Amino acid sequence: MREFMATHRVGFRLLKKIHETDTKIIPVYLLQIVFQLAQTYISLFLTAGLVDALRLGEFRQAAVLTALLLGANLLGTVLVSLTDAAIRGLRNIAGLAIFVWLREKTFSMDYETMENPEVAEKIAFSEKTSDAYGSLGMVLARYKDIFQAILSVLLSTAMVVYLCLARPAQSGTFLERLAGPVPSLLLFGCALAGMAFFSGKVFQKYSAKQKAFYEAYTGMEQKEDYLLNQVFLNEKAGKIIRLYGMQDMLMGNAREEIRKSRAYWGGMIDMMRRTIQANNGMNSLFTIGSYLLVTIKVVTGAVTVGAFTQYVGALNQFGNACFTIINCQVRLRNVCTYMEKFLAFLDMESGHAKGTRPLERSADGEYELRFENVSFRYPGSQDYVLKDINCKLDIRGKMALVGENGAGKTTFIKLLCRLYEPTQGRITLNGVDIREYDEENYRALFGVVFQDFKLFAFPVWENIAAGFERNDDKIWKALEQADAADIVRRMPKQLDTYLYKYLEDGVEISGGEAQKIALARALYKDAPIVILDEPTAALDPVAEAEVYSRFQEMVEGKTGIYISHRMSSCQFCDEIIVFHKGEIVERGSHGELHDRGGKYAEMWDAQARYYA
Ligand code: ADP
Repeated sequence: MREFMATHRVGFRLLKKIHETDTKIIPVYLLQIVFQLAQTYISLFLTAGLVDALRLGEFRQAAVLTALLLGANLLGTVLVSLTDAAIRGLRNIAGLAIFVWLREKTFSMDYETMENPEVAEKIAFSEKTSDAYGSLGMVLARYKDIFQAILSVLLSTAMVVYLCLARPAQSGTFLERLAGPVPSLLLFGCALAGMAFFSGKVFQKYSAKQKAFYEAYTGMEQKEDYLLNQVFLNEKAGKIIRLYGMQDMLMGNAREEIRKSRAYWGGMIDMMRRTIQANNGMNSLFTIGSYLLVTIKVVTGAVTVGAFTQYVGALNQFGNACFTIINCQVRLRNVCTYMEKFLAFLDMESGHAKGTRPLERSADGEYELRFENVSFRYPGSQDYVLKDINCKLDIRGKMALVGENGAGKTTFIKLLCRLYEPTQGRITLNGVDIREYDEENYRALFGVVFQDFKLFAFPVWENIAAGFERNDDKIWKALEQADAADIVRRMPKQLDTYLYKYLEDGVEISGGEAQKIALARALYKDAPIVILDEPTAALDPVAEAEVYSRFQEMVEGKTGIYISHRMSSCQFCDEIIVFHKGEIVERGSHGELHDRGGKYAEMWDAQARYYA
């Protein structure tokens, strides 16, 4: 029972969400239910009337009834197919809605929340669920079937009760007494109770088995999906697979997973077949009982011969509807098990409360940023990556953050840009905790190129303009500043050229070229603070030195922050902050730090040997 309630709690929430997405979907389904039921039951009544008219030789009435029967059927078919066409379109909308909900939710999350490994897993799971098992279209269709079946049960029960109440002309013989209202109701009641009891047993038996099957499959499915989609079709994995000759091993693993999956589906189908057979058995018993009841009523003259077809039809509808309810319940439960996790994901907190304090851009480009006792560890990790950082950033100069790999430089910037919140301490801008500012206002201060910057398979201009209006002059200017104008000029459609080959026949670009385009994007934003995270991955030392020397020009009049573990690139900065194991160990100009003979001098000397 608890499971039943849980299924429908999920199901009804989904229906509500579907209704909020498009208010036409559910009414169209309801309309179709009305048309289908009307067609079925009107036909039953008209057929009964027709048989009686023919038996009594009232041919004129029979002709009228035949015409009505045909007309009703024709109209019913037309109306049902009209709603069918509408439903097909609307079901697609519902199917797509789930992808939209998922993306809206993901976008609404803090970066920090989204990157949390547990959340990332939930996103991946929800993404798959949203596509699997017919998704919302399936939920809608099953609810429609269940609702229609419930109405059909009510209608047919009313008809059968009416049949039971019909009295025979006389009540002398045993049969005539049996055809009386009380014995008939008892007969029908027993048949019904028997069917409900046995169907319940069948349902319980198979639903437990199916559930166990289903749960076992979830793990299997994840493995299969990982192999087939993330390993086989992944470009990066492709290189490793070829270099290390992993093809046979992977194909073997995939075959094994596919074999298990086939065995699962074989078993599942077998189980469904047995469920259907068992239910059909119940149904047949009930049908025999119903025929018996109606026959007794007709033979004893309680109802007309024509009514025979009507009531047999009603009893058939009743049996089928009961079966539909049970069958749909099982199928809904399976989908809702997945959907429950999806809804739980939608219910998750999207992250920290967002500040609303407006932030005016300072006319002179001066901002005072300060880290106060800031410590930080990544979500899901125990180790502090930044430890008790206290520093004031003198904005309006060129600043370099240096330190070995993993020292915490990028993390420092991510906190500064509010991609994460400090675990302890606070960061202030002009004396106010940055969390209090409106997020969009605050982020407008920064144009950042992270090491793992991302360009999209969109046209060049869209990559650069990003969330801003297209202005070709400004785009070209940013490209010039980033030394990327020549790269784009060589492209077949210049600013309208697609990058990469995912969506269109676009151009492939090297890591260094991509870095420059990403830099142009940061400059186009025209933010007062430009941050360039060490481009070592993409650029060779010469190109890096060149980017660096241009960086000085690029950020003219702005604050520039340059992150590097190559000392040589930073020596001309106004100020250098040295990170070591999550702490700021030194800060000052190149000359000061070099002369001090501390960590900076140590790193400088070590690298000087390399590049000498
Ligand atoms: P740097 O920029 O100085 O090379 P980072 O700030 O990138 O250093 O990294 C500092 C430490 O934080 C490293 O040990 C790194 O492994 C860890 N780290 C970086 N990003 C994440 C993340 N998203 N989740 C968990 N740990 C991370």
